[in-house]
Amino acid sequence: MALTWQQEAQSLSWTTEPLVDGVRRPSAAAGRFDLVSPRDGAVLATVADGTAADVDAAVRSARAVFESGEWSRAAAIERGRTLIRFGDLVEANARELALRISLEMGKPVQDALAVELRAVAQCLRWYGQLADKLPDESPQATPDALALVTREPAGVVGAVVPWNFPLTMTAWKLGPALAAGNSVVLKPAEQTSVSALRLGELALEAGVPAGVLNVVPGRGDTVGEALGRHPDVDVLTFTGSVGVGRRFLAYSAESNGKRVWPELGGKSASVVLSDADVEAAGRTSAWGAFYNQGQMCSASSRMIVLRDVHDRAVEAAVSQAAAMAPSDPLSGDAASGAVVSERQLERILGFVERAVAGGATLAAGSVTRYEIGTGKGSYVAPVVLTDVRPDMEIAQAEVFGPVLSVIAADSVDEAVAVANGTPFGLGAGLWTSDLSAAHRVSRRLRAGTVWVNCYEEGDMSMPFGGVGDSGFGRDKGAHAVDKYTDVKSTWIELGA
Ligand code: NAP
Ligand code: MG
Repeated sequence: MALTWQQEAQSLSWTTEPLVDGVRRPSAAAGRFDLVSPRDGAVLATVADGTAADVDAAVRSARAVFESGEWSRAAAIERGRTLIRFGDLVEANARELALRISLEMGKPVQDALAVELRAVAQCLRWYGQLADKLPDESPQATPDALALVTREPAGVVGAVVPWNFPLTMTAWKLGPALAAGNSVVLKPAEQTSVSALRLGELALEAGVPAGVLNVVPGRGDTVGEALGRHPDVDVLTFTGSVGVGRRFLAYSAESNGKRVWPELGGKSASVVLSDADVEAAGRTSAWGAFYNQGQMCSASSRMIVLRDVHDRAVEAAVSQAAAMAPSDPLSGDAASGAVVSERQLERILGFVERAVAGGATLAAGSVTRYEIGTGKGSYVAPVVLTDVRPDMEIAQAEVFGPVLSVIAADSVDEAVAVANGTPFGLGAGLWTSDLSAAHRVSRRLRAGTVWVNCYEEGDMSMPFGGVGDSGFGRDKGAHAVDKYTDVKSTWIELGA
């Protein structure tokens, strides 16, 4: 009989030594911290709180292999072949990785497998296939010269990523950076260190040379800051919160002026017009707010609804909330799992409590935790808040939890103004059956991605990123390679 996910979890071992220069070696750090599973509060492992010395060893290794040319000057088709193999190995080890992610950060294991791991394998293969298809240019020059515009790898890339889609966000960085020939030093979020280290081992197994991908776990203000300030890092690619993204810009300014690519948070709106399929709009907007326990940068955390269809949209959202009540992430069919930590749980419930105190109505969910089993896990039932005004904290701040705020609007113009009325600009949804409204309104929505009559759809070819406080730079798609390459102009005199 096949093992259940719970049985498989018993056999996992958790090793946390940094992966530097192709080997797992002990960290130089004196301190360690616990890796606590939000599923049930169990301690999975203790992680060495990496140091600047660990980061320096990793950067040296990355630089040395970059200079050797073993990867940076390999034929692009060979790098591509290795990345495709890396994707295949991720697929072959997807169950183990999914289980680790689920235990580390609480998402339902079958989701980790079918959505996250599938995306990781796809992303690595996509950039593997792209590696040798990026053309250089030879512009028209004078008859006596040959002009070449070529692309070169930037060098050593530091990558600092969050825990919410831990391996997907990592693959979005690794794919284009490695395809272009760079070396990478990865700092995963502390919660998801072990899955990231396993990913690093699979890269080695696929044939990525030692030192081309180093993984240094530890905290943001130790390892993250050391990487951000390292004088020999050329590019720092970051996904996370606005505050930390800006710190990386400061680290750069105060060190070597490295390129920083901040992909930050959001307060995305799903706008429902009167002629929409209101039931689908309400249900899908709520799904977009609750999926991954609401811990999505592009979560549809605000539903902005024309008043004449408001009640129907809310009804659909409330029934979606009921359908997504949390249960054990390892059950194999949980609609929602645990939020990442107790700290995050308290933060989320604090937002809800203040919103209710400020006049919002709790149409679904609660201001208290959701109890499962031993009561030691961190669970929050999906929350729908109505009577939300655009200026309330809950309508402006990123909650990063399963909370949908519903705001009524009296006109399309008002709906657009409210949708655009935060400092963020990551994603936006639009629901309408009118073709020209679909085009006209989506043009007016200030966001890196607009989804019309859907939410969170797309594929690897579609760039992902934001404007305003959501940062700049795009992951995914062929454009992402630009972040990790330099353009070189070569002018060759052909003689008189
Ligand atoms: P976070 O607190 O900003 O952390 C992100 C990463 O930065 C982690 O690896 C973290 O390390 C590190 N870090 C923290 N403090 C640091 C410091 N002082 N110096 C250097 N590094 C530091 O974000 P998070 O809570 O992990 O993730 C949630 C955020 O990510 C949300 O705002 C969400 O919207 C955003 N996000 C954006 C996208 C996008 O594509 N735009 C995608 C997903 C998530 P430790 O945690 O280990 O300390
Ligand atoms: Mg963190």
